[in-house]
Amino acid sequence: SQQLSERVLNMATSATLAMAAKARELRAEGKDIIGLSLGEPDFNTPDFVKQAAKEAIDQNYSSYSPVDGYVDLKDAIIKKFQRDNNLTYSPNGIVVSTGAKQSLANVAMAVINPGDEVILPAPYWVSYSEIVKLAEGVPVEVQTSIENDFKMTADQLEAAITSKTKMLWYSSPCNPSGSVYSKEELEAIAAVLRKHPNIIVVSDEIYEHINFAGGHTSIASIEGMFDRTVTVNGVSKAFAMTGWRIGYIGAPDWIARACNKIQGQITSGANSIAQRATIAALEAPVSSIQFMIDKFKERRDLVLSLLGEIEGFQLNVPEGAFYVFPNVSSFFGKTLKGNKIENASDFALYLLEHANVATVTGEAFGNPNCIRISYAASEESLKEAISRIKAAVSNA
Ligand code: PLP
Repeated sequence: SQQLSERVLNMATSATLAMAAKARELRAEGKDIIGLSLGEPDFNTPDFVKQAAKEAIDQNYSSYSPVDGYVDLKDAIIKKFQRDNNLTYSPNGIVVSTGAKQSLANVAMAVINPGDEVILPAPYWVSYSEIVKLAEGVPVEVQTSIENDFKMTADQLEAAITSKTKMLWYSSPCNPSGSVYSKEELEAIAAVLRKHPNIIVVSDEIYEHINFAGGHTSIASIEGMFDRTVTVNGVSKAFAMTGWRIGYIGAPDWIARACNKIQGQITSGANSIAQRATIAALEAPVSSIQFMIDKFKERRDLVLSLLGEIEGFQLNVPEGAFYVFPNVSSFFGKTLKGNKIENASDFALYLLEHANVATVTGEAFGNPNCIRISYAASEESLKEAISRIKAAVSNA
């Protein structure tokens, strides 16, 4: 291992995956672990999408696709951006990739130079900081709090900007907090950014449709933002297609061209069958996936009401995605069943070992006071999991 690159030695392993591995280990020992650590819908991919994939196989979509995606998929993406986000992209601004994760990595590699600062409102999705570091950038965390629904204010942004700031990078709806920035909040952020024309914005909108507040705003649609914003989206979450691996960006042409260039040397075009299936997904009306969104909302309400009965869990109401992000710092310094809890990682580990429930420490997301609980699980497992959590932390 001495011969490994500094690049990889400096990289954290994914805490969500580490938790999943630990849960697997305990399962192998015969323990009945309920997994609430994964960011993945528990639904099957809709039949109309599967059908399109089957047809694509029979129609022999088996050759390399264009690096940036099939022309008709790019058309479907352009129409989607127009329909849902009031954004008008040209085909040159669209790049299809192997998951939104690759889209994000492409953008980072395309614009970050060593030492460039990237502002990450915390909590943020685990991979953002690691991708920034891989691109030799410097992640700059802006701490938010549960009192402000884990959202960065315009003043906080302004205070974080330096002459080295290259990028602002956030998700809304947010993984892990479930927060949704309103149009007004984004307008205030845009007003700060207009004073700094060189800052690029990465807006990760992969949870766009899983929004219970109604009203999703793409920052690119706000005055002065279109020409410097990369809008990232994909089909993993809303269409229950995590394994299909399709994500995409709408971006200024110069950034899209650079992403195309990088992807052309690293992976080429994304999987051909999955691209064809994505056309069907994006052309369908949002109403075709509404049943999943409705279920997520019911489960959110269930989880909030059950967790609300446990003393020591401080909650807010997440408006999107499928996570709750309770502040559990009231347990820090306490001893539960002989286990000293010093931080969120200890607490998540305690829940795994003493409640047999897998969650993820907020530390991985840049917030050391919280844990992330995914409610992309059946109502039954959620009820059982929370009742176990309650038993493990009460009268302990
Ligand atoms: N962005 C956020 C905020 C996510 O939570 C995830 C998946 O967990 C991704 C991007 C990656 O999605 P994909 O499966 O399209 O790579």
